[in-house]
Amino acid sequence: MEMKLVDTDVLVIGGGPAGLAAAIALRRKGFDVVVADQARPAIDKACGEGLLPDAVTALEALSVTIPADEAMPFRGIRFIEGQLAVESRFPAGPALGIRRTTLHRLLVAHAAAARVSLLWGTRITGLISDGAEAEGASIRARWIIGADGQNSRVRQWAGLSRCTRQRFRYGFRRHFAADPWTKYVEVNWGPNCQVVVTPIAPQELCVSVISDNPRLRLDEALTFFPELARRLRGALSTTPERGAVSTLCTVKDILRGRTVLVGDASGSADAITGDGLGLCFQQALHVADALAANDLARYRAAHRRIARRPRIMSEMMLLMARRPALRRRVVQALAANPHTFARLLAIHIGAASPAELGLGNALAFARELLV
Ligand SMILES: Cc1cc2nc3c(=O)[nH]c(=O)nc-3n(C[C@H](O)[C@H](O)[C@H](O)COP(=O)(O)OP(=O)(O)OC[C@H]3O[C@@H](n4cnc5c(N)ncnc54)[C@H](O)[C@@H]3O)c2cc1C
Repeated sequence: MEMKLVDTDVLVIGGGPAGLAAAIALRRKGFDVVVADQARPAIDKACGEGLLPDAVTALEALSVTIPADEAMPFRGIRFIEGQLAVESRFPAGPALGIRRTTLHRLLVAHAAAARVSLLWGTRITGLISDGAEAEGASIRARWIIGADGQNSRVRQWAGLSRCTRQRFRYGFRRHFAADPWTKYVEVNWGPNCQVVVTPIAPQELCVSVISDNPRLRLDEALTFFPELARRLRGALSTTPERGAVSTLCTVKDILRGRTVLVGDASGSADAITGDGLGLCFQQALHVADALAANDLARYRAAHRRIARRPRIMSEMMLLMARRPALRRRVVQALAANPHTFARLLAIHIGAASPAELGLGNALAFARELLV
C-alpha cells in the first residue's frame, strides 16, 4: 500500500473536545493544523453534559458560540441528601446543559470553518522523529499535541509519566424525554453513588450515575432515590445506557520536546466536579498562546495552575462520597449557611479565590459541622 504523506505545523492526535478546541485556538494564531481521530463524528461519550460557566467563557474566548436552541441554561447546583437539599446560583453565568454529540458537532463545524484539516477514522499508531504514523499515512509536524483521552498512548509514546495519583470510578448515563423540573444541576448523594440530573433541552434530561462499582447501572441506582425515580417514572429513555471510566489523575509532566498533552490525556478531575470540559477549553487557549510565543514552558505553568482547583474539588467530593456521616453533616451545615455554599460554588468555577470564603463564613460553617 502506498504511504500518504501529510505535512503540517501542528498535528493534534484525538478529535474530542480537547483536540478540537486546541486546533481552533491554534488556527486563530495562524498555525496549519491537522486533527486525526480514529472515530468519526459526532463522537459520543458518557458524560454529565454540564458546561460550567468557566467552560462557557473559555468557549466564547475560542469564538465557539452555542445556539440557544442547542443547549439548556442552568443556574447553579443543588445537593440532595435524603430529605435535605441545598442549592446555590452561580455568581456569573451562563452554565449550559448540552448533549455530548451536539457539542461535538458544533466543535467540528467551528474547526472546519477555521480550516483545520480533519482526518476522521484515522488511528495514529506511533510517534516518529519528525511526526507521527497512522495506518497508511505518515504525518510530518513541527509540534504534536496529544489529546487522546485518559488512556493516552501519546503520553506513553513520548515517555511522559503515567498518572501519579489515580482513582477510578464508573459513570453510566441515559437520556430521558421529560420536562426538566429544575433549573439546577441536581447532585443526588446516596449510599456509595451519586446520581446527577442535568437539563439539556426543554424536554430532555441527562441522568448519570457515578460510583466505585462498575456493575451499578442507573435502574438499580434509582432505587436509592425514590423521589427522583418517581419523577422519571413513565419518562421515555431516548438513548441506551452508555458508560465511561472517570479517573482522577495527576500527570507529573505534560511536555517533552515537541510533544505536549491537553485534555484528559494531561490529567483529569473526577466526573462529579463537572470540570473536565472547562479544563479542556482553558488548556486549548493556553497551549495556543504558548506555541505562538514559542515558549511551551509557559503552558506547563498555566496547566499546573488551572489543574489545582479541580483536583482539590475532586478530593473534597470524593471524601463526601465515601463518608456518609461527614457528608450529611456537610450538607446540613451548607443548608444552614447558604452563603458558604454560594462562596464555595464561586470558588469551584474560578469566580472567587479560596481566600474570599471569608473568616465569618468559614467559622459559621465549621461551627455547624461540629454540633
Ligand atoms: C461519567 C462522566 C461524566 C462526566 N461529566 C462531565 C460534565 O458534566 N462536565 C464536564 O465538563 N466534564 C465531564 N466529564 C469529563 C469529560 O467528559 C472529559 O474531561 C472530556 O471528555 C475530555 O475530553 P478529551 O478530548 O480530553 O478526551 P476524549 O473525549 O476521551 O477524546 C479523546 C479522543 O481521542 C481519540 N483517540 C484516542 N486514541 C487515538 C489514536 N491512537 N489515534 C487517533 N485518535 C485517538 C478518541 O477516539 C477520542 O475521540 C465527565 C466524564 C465522565 C466519565
